[in-house]
Amino acid sequence: MLKVTEELLKIRYKINNNIFKLSDKALADVEEQFKKFDEIREFNQNKVLAAFQEERISDSHFTNTTGYGYDDMGRDSLDKVYARVLGAEAALVRPHFVNGTHALGTALFGNLRPSDTLLAVSGTPYDTLQSVIGIDGKNERNGSLKEYGVKYKQIDLRNGGFDFDSIEKELKNDKSIKVIHLQRSTGYGWRNAFTIEQLEEVIKFIKEIRNDVIVFVDNCYGEFVDVKEPTEVGADLIAGSLIKNIGGGIAPTGGYIAGRKDCVEQASYRLTVPGIGAECGSTFGVMRSMYQGLFLAPHITMEAVKGATFCSRIMELAGFEVLPKYTDKRSDIIQAIKFNDKIKLINFCKGIQAGSPIDSFVECEPWDMPGYNDQVIMAAGAFIQGSSIELSADAPIREPYIAYLQGGLTFDHAKIGILIALSKILNS
Ligand SMILES: *Cc1c(COP(=O)(O)O)cnc(C)c1O
Repeated sequence: MLKVTEELLKIRYKINNNIFKLSDKALADVEEQFKKFDEIREFNQNKVLAAFQEERISDSHFTNTTGYGYDDMGRDSLDKVYARVLGAEAALVRPHFVNGTHALGTALFGNLRPSDTLLAVSGTPYDTLQSVIGIDGKNERNGSLKEYGVKYKQIDLRNGGFDFDSIEKELKNDKSIKVIHLQRSTGYGWRNAFTIEQLEEVIKFIKEIRNDVIVFVDNCYGEFVDVKEPTEVGADLIAGSLIKNIGGGIAPTGGYIAGRKDCVEQASYRLTVPGIGAECGSTFGVMRSMYQGLFLAPHITMEAVKGATFCSRIMELAGFEVLPKYTDKRSDIIQAIKFNDKIKLINFCKGIQAGSPIDSFVECEPWDMPGYNDQVIMAAGAFIQGSSIELSADAPIREPYIAYLQGGLTFDHAKIGILIALSKILNS
């Protein structure tokens, strides 16, 4: 770091020499990892570029239709570009998905029928999906899968890995199992994200027992962290959010579903209605941002991965338990830091907020966020509301007080944010 930068940060954020020393050490330690990330980034950038070229994307794809949105070229071609990038037969990319949960829920509702069973094999699904499935303990009449008669079973992880024996037993004994749920990312858990190799192994295992089940992967936070996506290693269906990795920080909203053509089509009848599916939906002039976001996504994702890796190392050097460690193979952009202390956790999040370009003057506080069972604190000073490909940190307020950091449109920004957060903890 240049001396002038240090001077600036010292005056502006009261970051002291100790922290700069830790930062220098952390940066030196992560150098090897960063080289690997650059190689993945380069591969994915070329993959995305080729998809744009194959689909002959031009200026005319950035205009938009109105009303029904029949033959919206931008929309229909973006579906094809996504399908190519994700190695899928088809994709459904829409600004009409309000968030990732909506895309995931649409994929599930579209492919499950009354008396089918959804079997989760990577433990409890992400918090917001629990309401979709109907296992949030609230028993509301809200049209969850459960209320529609879709059964749910779950196999917990064993020593952090898949419980192959139980998976085999369930698949052989329960013929009503129709969809398998896998979650690539950590979510609010304390485990490493599943690598593409791990997903490939379990999917192969599942398909050898029952070739007719639909393997669905919650791919949130996973896109472009590796050179393959779950759809390239056997997943039938994946879904995710456009205000995470794949929107590149540019897409203003939305989600995607991708995978086998028949599965994506079933989902499209849930996004709109049977008989209409993917053929309607005007796009409000957001197509250019969605294309441009996808184009930038391989780069932006790696900026975030570098931020997470730097965070992992510097927090570890500062004496905190972290997951993943900086040398672990990553499969999402999340960095978990265990504080074992509520005040430290809250101060860390406040530090990230103070380092944001937007709303840096705001103090974030724990609140009752819709869809979550514990209070949640969220540091998010983002250009796009709630965007977590932008530097953000959040945490459910429960023991052992783990913060989840993710994003950073530029590594430089992620680094500054982390240094501010660390000094807030060490100085208080
Ligand atoms: C972010 C996320 C979701 C969806 O969350 P939204 O806030 O609705 O976009 C689902 N699963 C995982 C693992 C996630 O990280």
